[in-house]
Amino acid sequence: MCLLSEISMAEKKVNATTKEALKKNTLFDVYELKGEQDGSTLLVIGGIHGDEPGGFFAPALLIDLYKIKKGKVIVVPNLNPDSIVAFRRGIYRDMNRKFATIKRNDPDFNNVQAIKKLITNEEVDFIINLHDGHGFYREKWENSIFNPKAWGQTYVIDQKTLDNVPFGDLDSIAKQIESKLNQRLHYDFHTFGVRNTETRIKDEEQQNSLTFFAITHLKPALAIETSKNITELPLKTLYQISSIEALMEILDIEFERKFELNLENIAEKINDFGSLKINHNITLDLSNVRSIINFTPLLAQKNLFDFTHPLGSVKKTKEGYEVYIGHKRISVLKPDIFPMQCDLQTMEIELDGKVAQAHFGETLDFQQDFLVRKVEGVRINVIGYSKKGIISEHDILINKANIDKRYSLDKTRSIFRVEVYHGKNFCGMINLHAKE
Ligand SMILES: [Zn+2]
Repeated sequence: MCLLSEISMAEKKVNATTKEALKKNTLFDVYELKGEQDGSTLLVIGGIHGDEPGGFFAPALLIDLYKIKKGKVIVVPNLNPDSIVAFRRGIYRDMNRKFATIKRNDPDFNNVQAIKKLITNEEVDFIINLHDGHGFYREKWENSIFNPKAWGQTYVIDQKTLDNVPFGDLDSIAKQIESKLNQRLHYDFHTFGVRNTETRIKDEEQQNSLTFFAITHLKPALAIETSKNITELPLKTLYQISSIEALMEILDIEFERKFELNLENIAEKINDFGSLKINHNITLDLSNVRSIINFTPLLAQKNLFDFTHPLGSVKKTKEGYEVYIGHKRISVLKPDIFPMQCDLQTMEIELDGKVAQAHFGETLDFQQDFLVRKVEGVRINVIGYSKKGIISEHDILINKANIDKRYSLDKTRSIFRVEVYHGKNFCGMINLHAKE
């Protein structure tokens, strides 16, 4: 659910991918949040490492819940989509070690090349790369968790400054964010620090990283690392989002968000998975969907999956289609294959006696009963309802008490499937929500 209703998702998505069920080497998504007033441009990159969810849920919330008033924010929430679904650092090995050189046949090649192009884009003024790192950074060694080699809770810079470049004072910018964040920690030991890797002279490995690639192309960049040792995703995401806000202020990017920035609200937003539209004729509300949906009417191939959530994706397996939000597997759709050559657009349904025009993929409320009106040659199947000798369940007044609730779409057992067929073809599904 989007609080800023004036932001249309369609407008924001640049390389609009109505996603086809996954092939390998999925390309990342790009969103553009543009203010009415001109200003600096920030590029936010999330999900370079697939097992660092703070780094990909924060940009997803940025896309959904922020409106930019001045300047521009370009957001890539999922730089490494296949690794996010697998919840692994890098299923084709570490993508953040491929920015100095990469072979053409490397599965990460296309994503690395495409993000390099975005990074070096003339309009980009500043770049952040988001991670969850191990441990908690401390200037002095305390133990294996708290030490100077830890990446967690750091702003990582490759060098102190990038001379003669606007916003090139990386050390000072990182320290400003650090001091702001350290004033609002949830636990004292979550202190942020600035870690300068001095990449050019001291850190050969880091020379292969995304931020160092940016630096060498005269683009100011830093990495934001929350800690892998913080297990609560909402808290990590809150730290990430707060850091991004602090940076936007430094870059004079003005924004609006219509919720108060606190842990409770972030937790609520993270658990809002939005909806999934399939082939323009089925819609699933993902926040409360059952973990298995049996007999999902689908095409034999080239199914279209369109998520409202920036981290939505689908993975085809032997079982069917696994539906993901980020690394979280939300549901498995077990397919029932149909052709879908059907001209029908709407159906007339009486809901508690009142007639409504229902579009496929729509959810309509009722309280007691409903009746789907007959259309010549069309078969109606209300899943969880049956009456002996009846093939098509049209023109029958069906009370909610007569539907087997085990067949609901949702975990709370209140949303039921009305499926419409014409000959061999599946036309679409209408969701009927039984209100208390
Ligand atoms: Zn990382």
